[in-house]
Amino acid sequence: MSAPATKEGSFKHVKYLWRDEEANELSGVDRLVYRSNQLGADLTLTNTGGGNTSSKLIEMDPLTKESVQVLWLKGSGGDLRTAKRDGFASLYLDKVRAMKTLYLSSPERGAKTPIEDAMYPMYSHCVFNLNSRACSIDTPLHTFVPYGHVDHLHPNAVIAIAASVNQEKLCREIYGDEVIYVPWQRPGFDIGLKIEQLIKDNPKAKGILLGHHGMSSWSNDDKTCYETALEIIDRAARYIEEHARGDKTYGGPKAQLLAETDRKRIQALQTIRGHRAG
Ligand SMILES: [Zn+2]
Repeated sequence: MSAPATKEGSFKHVKYLWRDEEANELSGVDRLVYRSNQLGADLTLTNTGGGNTSSKLIEMDPLTKESVQVLWLKGSGGDLRTAKRDGFASLYLDKVRAMKTLYLSSPERGAKTPIEDAMYPMYSHCVFNLNSRACSIDTPLHTFVPYGHVDHLHPNAVIAIAASVNQEKLCREIYGDEVIYVPWQRPGFDIGLKIEQLIKDNPKAKGILLGHHGMSSWSNDDKTCYETALEIIDRAARYIEEHARGDKTYGGPKAQLLAETDRKRIQALQTIRGHRAG
C-alpha cells in the first residue's frame, strides 16, 4: 500500500490512536497489549469483544534458557480495548506449527470434520511458561501467517463488504491484489492452512478479507500491522460512502404511504369491525 496512506491524517473513518512516544517506551508483549488496546478503543475497528491480535516474539525458555519463538495471542474471552498482559495466551511457535503434521495425518480433513475439534485440546501441549490463558479458536489464523504480527478484527465496514452478494468482486475492486479474499469458513486449522497457502500464492498481500466474518492485517513491524488494519477498514468505509445511494440503497420503497386521513379512516373501520366481531 502506498506510503502516504500509512500516516496519521490520511484516514477518514477510523481513529488513529498509535503514539510513538508511548509505544517506544514498551517492548515485547507490552507493545502487543498497547497495540490491542488502541485497536479496541475505536469501535469502528472491531465490534465489542471481537477480534484478536498476535505477535511472534523471542523469549527465553524457562527450562533450557535458550531463545525460542513464542506466539503471543489474545486469549479466549475478554476485550481488545481492556486486555492486559494476562489476557494473552503464549504458545511455543514451533510446537503449534508442528500441529499441522498431526492435522494432515487425518484421512478426513475440513471445517466440519472431527479432526478440527480434536485439534483444540492439543494447544495445551504447546503452552509456553505454564501460561494458563486459554487460546482462541482463531489461533491457526495467526500461527500460519508468516509475519511477526497479525491483527484480526470484525469491523462493521469490512463485514458490510464481506457479507454482500458480490463480496469477492468488491474485495478485488477495493483492494486489488493487496487484500486476499477467503470465503466464509468456521475458524480452525483448515482455514489457517488455506490462508498460509494463499499468502504464498499472493506475496504482495498485506491482509485478508474473510467472507461474512471480518479481516486480518499482517506485517513484520507492529506499527505497520496496526496501520494496515486501519487502512483496510478505512478503504471499505470510503467505498461504502462513495457508493451509498441513500433511500435507494435497498431499492427504494415498494409501496406508497397512504395520506394520514386515509390511514385514520382505515384504522377507524378496522376498529368498528373488531367491535362487531367481538
Ligand atoms: Zn474473527
